[in-house]
Amino acid sequence: MRPTIIAGNWKMFKDLEESHDLVKGILERLTSTLNSVKVVICPPYTSLALASKMLKESTVGLGAQNMSEHDEGAYTGEISGRMLLSAGCRYVIVGHSERRQYFKESDALINRKALRALELGLVPIICVGETLDQREKGTTHSVVRGQIEGVLKGFSAEQVSTSIIAYEPVWAIGTGKTASPEQAQEVHALIRSVVEKIAGREAADKVVLQYGGSVKPDNAKSLLAQKDIDGALVGGACLKAESFVQIIESAV
Ligand code: PEP
Repeated sequence: MRPTIIAGNWKMFKDLEESHDLVKGILERLTSTLNSVKVVICPPYTSLALASKMLKESTVGLGAQNMSEHDEGAYTGEISGRMLLSAGCRYVIVGHSERRQYFKESDALINRKALRALELGLVPIICVGETLDQREKGTTHSVVRGQIEGVLKGFSAEQVSTSIIAYEPVWAIGTGKTASPEQAQEVHALIRSVVEKIAGREAADKVVLQYGGSVKPDNAKSLLAQKDIDGALVGGACLKAESFVQIIESAV
């Protein structure tokens, strides 16, 4: 059975004080009945060490929102996977559509980042998803298939099954427009079949597929009820402890 994993992507929100309050709010609301769901939070880099300290006695995992493909060197402004590990991270988001769009990240670069993350013992949360234009042109399947083939290039079956893949239709991110449960399930099933072709049945059965794109307390349950949706990557709704924990509750 695959675990259910709910991750919160804080994006470029929350200074140290606000991060403290949000982590505190999440921890206060998480009860032991929620233990069947794995919860991960991905604050900005500047709040990682603080969050790591606060999460020490909890089961909540810590992730970053991006990492360099390099371990160290003259790469001003970059943060390496080794640095993330030393800050207490066990997860890292790679290839978020905002990185693809604003920082021109390619499948090849995302692939190198994800492989480096795995080599270091970090679990990559690898994002894929089509734009509105691509969906309207009817190319969703070919776009997502191409992204999966690109980002998983050179992965062993073991590396595929350790990774998390987040399907995030770009038109649903931060827009309030969610994919319907049926639309999301259709693409998740496609992703699992592409993974099976690349890495075999066992890896396809094991890999955790998250849906992301305007997940809110009122739509999470129907999305998470879908056969191939094993969790959610939550943006806006994870910035308030109450709505984030309500989403976690709907996954139980
Ligand atoms: C995201 O940033 O990964 C995301 C899914 O954002 P939102 O939930 O706000 O659409």
